[in-house]
Amino acid sequence: MGVTDWWHEKSLEELSTPQWEALCDGCAKCCLHKLEDEDSGEIAYTKVRCRYLQEESCQCTDYPNRSILVSNCIDLRPEDLGTLHWLPSTCAYRLRAQGLPLPEWHPLVSGSRDSVHAAGISIRGRAISDEYVHPDGYEEHIVHWLE
Ligand code: SF4
Ligand code: SF4
Repeated sequence: MGVTDWWHEKSLEELSTPQWEALCDGCAKCCLHKLEDEDSGEIAYTKVRCRYLQEESCQCTDYPNRSILVSNCIDLRPEDLGTLHWLPSTCAYRLRAQGLPLPEWHPLVSGSRDSVHAAGISIRGRAISDEYVHPDGYEEHIVHWLE
């Protein structure tokens, strides 16, 4: 670990706002619609994505207004991490909350924003916009390629 590996040296609570933002790997899995089993609470991911996501870049097209545009769009904060069990196992916030290191494909480790796509971790090329799927039909699009 080098001296500049602040993402491993600092706790989530110690991160500055720019560091907190930089910790996101850009996978965009959290912009996929999820279904929750009412009885078990189990979460199933679908390949239906938010319409405000630009899929090639995996970037939100209106990040400053995301919480206004999409009521259940989560503005992740350190205090939320204990309850956000729906985050994928690869999510950098979840990994660091568990005290685990970032993987080699994480942009902070690789030095490239493309490595998350090259490693097949992001949703690029695998999703469908919610503009084209009726909410009652999300179940047909449940996927198992992410956790
Ligand atoms: S799942 Fe986690 S790392 Fe991936 S885009 Fe969402 S917040 Fe960022
Ligand atoms: S509004 Fe932006 S950040 Fe929120 S779910 Fe949609 S694409 Fe993702």
